[in-house]
Amino acid sequence: MAAPTDRQARRLDGIPPTIFTRMSALAMRTGAINLGQGFPDQDGPASVIERAAQALHQGANQYAPGSGILELREAIAAHQHAHYGIELDPRHEVVVTTGATEAIAAAILGLVDPGDEVVVLEPWYDSYPAMIAFAGGVRRAVTLRGPDFRLDTDELRAAITGRTKLLLINSPHNPTGTVLDRAELQAIADVAIEHDLVVVTDEVYEHLTFDDAVHVPLATLPGMRERTLTLSSAGKMFSLTGWKIGWATGPRDLTAALMGAKQWLSFCSGSAFQPAIAHALRHESGFYARLREELRGNRDLLCAGLAELGMDVRVPEGTYFVCTDVAGLGWQDSAEFCQALPERAGVVAIPAQGFYDDQVEGRHKVRWAFCKDTEVIAEGLSRLSSADLARG
Ligand code: PMP
Ligand code: GLN
Repeated sequence: MAAPTDRQARRLDGIPPTIFTRMSALAMRTGAINLGQGFPDQDGPASVIERAAQALHQGANQYAPGSGILELREAIAAHQHAHYGIELDPRHEVVVTTGATEAIAAAILGLVDPGDEVVVLEPWYDSYPAMIAFAGGVRRAVTLRGPDFRLDTDELRAAITGRTKLLLINSPHNPTGTVLDRAELQAIADVAIEHDLVVVTDEVYEHLTFDDAVHVPLATLPGMRERTLTLSSAGKMFSLTGWKIGWATGPRDLTAALMGAKQWLSFCSGSAFQPAIAHALRHESGFYARLREELRGNRDLLCAGLAELGMDVRVPEGTYFVCTDVAGLGWQDSAEFCQALPERAGVVAIPAQGFYDDQVEGRHKVRWAFCKDTEVIAEGLSRLSSADLARG
């Protein structure tokens, strides 16, 4: 991408280009194995792709309703009920979005006024700070500190001020792989209720949990349903990241605020994909159960391999990412490490330092994706183990 000129709006000052694009371009340019950007090597269910093809041929080619076709909103409501016992009115409490990315943007633009503070977990997903800045909000980060990446509930409490409007939570958490446990969720709920805050919770990896980790939606905690907007995405659930179908669920005033912004962003989202994702939600729950198992094997392979190379590895409880510390290899700067990696080893990973305000904590963290074919991960590890990874 060309460098910005001073014709660019001031709004974009200080917001770096997304690291995922930058690192995928580096992988393409160098022919490196891409363990960076989180998109699966294998596409989602054939029956779902077939449904989208049928929908295209049968005329789903014009605008869909702004909040999504009812069939999909009903399927999303049924999914929330079947998995979590959450009752939703599909007409007023479900909005289909152009990926979770648009749901994040519309939620923040629809809920945050200039000067409002948004408490966000760090490391964060990179669209959060960008959207908080677009809204004129102020971010206040609460760090999930290594090596365990758990939530320090005292730090959470200390981050709340009289200007706090929103808590922006993400679990299962990208990039650390933390799945917030009941005590952590309860602490968030207590703070939200005590200070009468709205919570936006990004649960796009809701089905990608391993071992004993259980994903508990924040909206299921007592007193939370009426103040929580829950976001998810078919991209992650059904390995269809390019379709950009996501959704938001929650009480009517919060979905209305989101819709108030969404209507000016995309107006509506991919017409032909919507009936296909409705079908997926109703009939393809086996897909993510299988995906979880495959990912667990890949996780174990990648984590063991990275640990053997001398990195501090925290085995993730969820998502398809593992976050490592490369300080043990002599690197203080993960951007420098990731920039050198394609040439040294023919592998691309994501420097996580841009996901932190706290550079003491974040400077030497690197994220690796394991939603890739097992052979690709094995080849990546083999390249890494024959490379000289020590700095100097
Ligand atoms: N939230 C998190 C935590 C993510 O990792 C991603 C990346 N997929 C998104 C939101 C964006 O989701 P989508 O691709 O559906 O826009
Ligand atoms: N969510 C994906 C990741 O974390 C990437 C999405 C994107 O490239 N914007 O890797």
